[in-house]
Amino acid sequence: MPRREHIKPRVSTPSGAHKQAPGGTPRGWSFYSTAHRCWRLWCLRYIIGLTPLRADEYFTFGSTYHALHEGVDEKTIASWGPDFVEALPAAKELYSRRIDSTKNPPLPPALAKEQTYAIPVPGAMSITTKPDQEEAELGNDGKPTGQRIPRDYKTAGFFSKNDSEYWAVSGQIIAEMIATGASEGVVDIIHKGTERKDGKESDSFGKVQQLQVLMTEDKRRSFFELIRDLSEQIDQRLSRAASAVKNGDGAREVASYFPRCHECVGHYGLCPYYDRCWTVGASRYLYRERPDAHTWLEPVDGESAKDMKVRKERALAVREVLSKVL
Ligand code: SF4
Repeated sequence: MPRREHIKPRVSTPSGAHKQAPGGTPRGWSFYSTAHRCWRLWCLRYIIGLTPLRADEYFTFGSTYHALHEGVDEKTIASWGPDFVEALPAAKELYSRRIDSTKNPPLPPALAKEQTYAIPVPGAMSITTKPDQEEAELGNDGKPTGQRIPRDYKTAGFFSKNDSEYWAVSGQIIAEMIATGASEGVVDIIHKGTERKDGKESDSFGKVQQLQVLMTEDKRRSFFELIRDLSEQIDQRLSRAASAVKNGDGAREVASYFPRCHECVGHYGLCPYYDRCWTVGASRYLYRERPDAHTWLEPVDGESAKDMKVRKERALAVREVLSKVL
C-alpha cells in the first residue's frame, strides 16, 4: 500500500483557469523522461528553452481534448492559437463520443481535476504530477473505500497489443498513483482515427479502451530509484558543463555533457529537434524561447532555495554558450 507521507498537495488549478495553452507541471514526468530519453533533447528544452513555433499536431489535438474534459470553454481554447482552432472540431466530436455512455463506458464523477502535487524524493529534486481526474474507489459493496483513483485521458491513432504492458509501468501514471495514495489508476485511451484490420480499414474513431494499472511496491521503489538517479545526473552534467564554461573550454566540450541519443523516433513520432540536431536540409520547424523553460528551477515545497539558485546559475551560464551553437 502506498505511503501517504510522501504526498504533498501543491497547487490547485481550477477548471478553465488557464491563461495559455496547457502543458505539464514544472518538473513533471516529461521533465525526467526527456532526460532519460536524450540529454540533448533535455538540454534544448530545459536549459536553452527552445520549443517549436508550430506545436506538434499530436500535442495540440491531445491538449484540446484534455481541455474539453477539464471544462475549458471553446473561446479560451481558440485563443491559444490557430493550431487549436484547427483541432477543435475533431476534438469536440471525440469528447462527445467519450462522454456518451451509450457508446462508451460511463465516467465516474470527478472528486478533483488537474490537481497538481509535488512528490518529494529523498536526496534529490522532487517530481510534480497532475492527474487529469481523480475519482472515488468503490469497494465490493459499492461504497467508497476512502481511496482515490487517478484517471488519465489519452488519444491514440492506433491501439497496440502492448498498450497494457506499456501503461502498466509508465512513470507518469505511477507518479499519479503515488501522489494520490492510490492502489490503482486508469488510463482512458480513445481512438482518434481508422486502423487497418485483416487488410481492411475499420472505423475505430471514438472507441475507448480503459486500462487498469495496479500499484506495487516494486514499481514504487523503481520509480524513486529512477528519479533520484536522473536528478543526480542532471546535477552532475550541469556542474561539469558549467565548469567547462568557466574554464573557457569550447562550446563543443560544453555540449558533450548533453550528448545526442541516436534514437530519434519515439512513441509519439519524430523528435521535433531532428532537423536542428542533424542539420538535414531545411529546418521543418522554427523555434521560439519558452517563457516557462526554467520553471523547473524554482524550489518546490520546502526544497533548498540555495541549491536551486546554484543550479540556476549553472543553467544560465551553460545556456549562454550553447544557445549560440545548438
Ligand atoms: S533529434 Fe535525436 S538526438 Fe536530437 S534531440 Fe531529438 S532525440 Fe535527441
